[in-house]
Order: sequence, then C-alpha cells, then structure tokens
Amino acid sequence: MNWSIALALVAHWYISLFCQTFYLHRYASHAMFTLPFWVDRFFYFLTFCAQGASFLNPKAYALLHQAHHKYSDTEKDPHSPHFYPSIKKMMLKTFHDYHSLVRNPKGEREDHYYPEWPLLDKFAKTKFHTILWIGIYAFLYSFIVTSPWQYSFLILHLLMGPLQGAAVNWFGHKLGYRNYSLPDQSKNTLPIDFFLMGELYQNNHHQFPMDLNFAKKWFEWDPAYPIIFLMKKFHLLRIQES
Ligand SMILES: [Zn+2]
Ligand SMILES: [Zn+2]
Repeated sequence: MNWSIALALVAHWYISLFCQTFYLHRYASHAMFTLPFWVDRFFYFLTFCAQGASFLNPKAYALLHQAHHKYSDTEKDPHSPHFYPSIKKMMLKTFHDYHSLVRNPKGEREDHYYPEWPLLDKFAKTKFHTILWIGIYAFLYSFIVTSPWQYSFLILHLLMGPLQGAAVNWFGHKLGYRNYSLPDQSKNTLPIDFFLMGELYQNNHHQFPMDLNFAKKWFEWDPAYPIIFLMKKFHLLRIQES
C-alpha cells in the first residue's frame, strides 16, 4: 500500500468536490449566496486548479444544472439515469450536452449571474490544457511512486470531475430513500453523506433547491454546510435573506 498515493487521491477528491458543491453547484447554479469579487475570483481559480484536467466551465455547468432541475427525470433532463441503460451512456450524453453549452451557451436566465473568466475558459478548451495537467500530475507522482505501475492511478486524477458527477447524477436519482414525495425520482443515497459532501441528498435538494443545508432529518449531515456557515461568519459570503 502506497499511503502517499492514497492521501493524494483523498485530498484531490475532497478539494475538487468542495469546489464543485460550493462554487459550481450552490453558487454558480443556484445563487444561494453572493461572493465579494475577490472571493469569487479566488474560488474560480481554485476550481480551475483543483479540478485540473477535468475542469468544468462554471457557466456551462450552471446552465446544465438549471436544466436538470427544470426537467428533472423527464426526457429533457440532461442526465436522468432513468433514460439510459448504463452510467457510461448517461455520462457520454452529459459530456456531449456540456460541451455544446461550453461552445454555445444558451438558456441563460436574465436575473442570474453566471461567473466567467474568459482567459481561463479559453485556455481550458485547448488540448494543451489537458496535456499540461497530465504533465503536472505525472511530475508530482514522480515523487511518491514506488513502482512504475502506480502511475496508472493518474487516470483517477484526470477524471476526478466526471467521476464525482457520475456518482451524484446516477445514484442520486436511482438509489436510496425519499423524505419528500416529488414528481421526479430523486433519492437521498446515504444517510450521512461524507462521500460526496451532501450532494447525494438529491431528494432533499430537489424539494428545497435554495436551502444551503442539504441535510433535513436529524440523522442526516451535510459536511459542506458548516464550512459555508463559517465562511458567512467571516464575511466571505452573503446569504440571500428571503
Ligand atoms: Zn438531481
Ligand atoms: Zn441543484
């Protein structure tokens, strides 16, 4: 067992995941809170670095996710597991829809702020972006591998974003229990969601899409919520008062 690789994978998983749930999902897609300009730019850049080779363009992510809520588990849903025979087929379609929104954003809401950073967004579309990240990961791994076959773990770093997306999109609408009866098939997959930082409380989230805390029952816990709450205490974000 190479503990350094295990640690690298766990650290990458959670930093990338926090950027996804905090910045791409709760902020860019739902505008559950607002960020001062420099905090917005900091997390944009952190998302760019943390997701690395699988960086997800925040505006395209937000447009895709807004369509998911609007058409949840209908034929127009960009990634309902109930219309695909396998997780791979669902993710290939999501990949296709996502890239068409990166090239040609459409469906923007007029009253919604979609974060953009033209320089980073343009660079992320190039092949050099992927090659650069492969180089960075391989360079960092050269310090921790004890045998050449261990470079095969790089594939998990390269696909970090899509792996997390696939787990949420598939299991979150297929496996688990429901607290609320909704027209869609959303589920809460894990009673305590350490694994995907609250993203697997899909049923709770579809019932209350603007609630910052995805956990609703006494036995549920959303690990991202206390971090966001703490950031509010330190005035790093502002939560919209309804
Ligand atoms: Zn959902
Ligand atoms: Zn959502």
